[in-house]
Amino acid sequence: MAEKTQAIVEAGQIERLIEVLHSRGYEVVGPTVRDKAIVYDRLERLADLPVGWTDEQEAGSYRLKRREDGALFCYVVGPQSWKKYLHPADVRLFSAQRQGETFRILSNPDPPPPGRHAFLGVRACELAAIAVQDRVLLHDRYRDPIYQGRREGIFIVAVNCTQSAATCFCTSMGTGPQAHAGFDLALTELLGPDHHRILIEVGSEVGAEVLAELEHFQASDDVEREAETAVGRARSQIQRRMDTTGIRDLLYSNVDHPRWDDVAQRCLTCANCTMVCPTCFCTTVEDVSDVTGDHAERWRRWDSCFTQSFSYIHGGSVRSSAKSRYRQWMTHKLASWIDQFGSSGCVGCGRCITWCPVGIDITAEVGAIRGATASAGENDHGNT
Ligand code: SF4
Ligand code: SF4
Repeated sequence: MAEKTQAIVEAGQIERLIEVLHSRGYEVVGPTVRDKAIVYDRLERLADLPVGWTDEQEAGSYRLKRREDGALFCYVVGPQSWKKYLHPADVRLFSAQRQGETFRILSNPDPPPPGRHAFLGVRACELAAIAVQDRVLLHDRYRDPIYQGRREGIFIVAVNCTQSAATCFCTSMGTGPQAHAGFDLALTELLGPDHHRILIEVGSEVGAEVLAELEHFQASDDVEREAETAVGRARSQIQRRMDTTGIRDLLYSNVDHPRWDDVAQRCLTCANCTMVCPTCFCTTVEDVSDVTGDHAERWRRWDSCFTQSFSYIHGGSVRSSAKSRYRQWMTHKLASWIDQFGSSGCVGCGRCITWCPVGIDITAEVGAIRGATASAGENDHGNT
């Protein structure tokens, strides 16, 4: 689509948007409040969104808070990401039944759920994360048919962030807070003293067809400026930074840095950071059978480089210490990922910081290694 098409709708039209997506055969999933967190689940109507809620996030801390207004999207990312749908935590690869001396395969991998998904409320950093998983699971030498089956035909409604959390650092990773590509429609919520409207940008032909079914008006220059200001507010709120200059070589040249011992003192190797990360993709395979031994199943489940069993090869684990596991995770995410897939494995969503029970912050860990390395360099320089 060459020209940027934008329209303005009243906020109530989000109800109509959900109806239109349903009428086109999509199961609409998006943010909703459950168990004191904003998670992704089925949306039947506008009221299923976290209307009038916001979140407060810090390292190791997440709280929902009521707002005074009826804002629909004034929060950022929660503990779940869209990989819940595209690269699910548990997939049955096959089931088998004993038949005499052998087994008969009863089923192949669980097919994607019937009906296509429409994702409503995808943030810019999450679009970047989906692109990272596309690169790994669709566009590499091996194509994952399970991911491919779930990814095809997805309708994406992005939401530009108009506020950020203290854990966000998308601006450092070049992924947000504004969505630029990879969506069918992108929404910017505009809340004023006397209006509550949504600016909608069209990103695809099918997006244009859906917009045509909403009661919409041409966006004026004033409205477009208001949207730029709203997204600019989120951008200026972001305080966390990660300096990515030469990060690959920085980490490769610091495998013996004392900071890895420091972080290992704090890390519980609980794997939370990898479970919440929207780009982590590692899995393991488990075989199970019923008590009779006649029925067996093979499951693919999310795994994590933080478990000792993850690097088990004959006779023991390659990474038996917390130090080696944290170093593996961070060095893969920020350095060897670039060699493997041509980009960083981190999109700056901040989930690993919020959901780490001891508040370990990947930006601080990089900063500590960079800072100590720089001061060592200065000292070296001073000594020569
Ligand atoms: S490493 Fe952390 S900040 Fe980066 S994408 Fe994963 S969860 Fe988000
Ligand atoms: S860094 Fe935090 S979330 Fe990740 S394994 Fe260690 S303690 Fe758990």
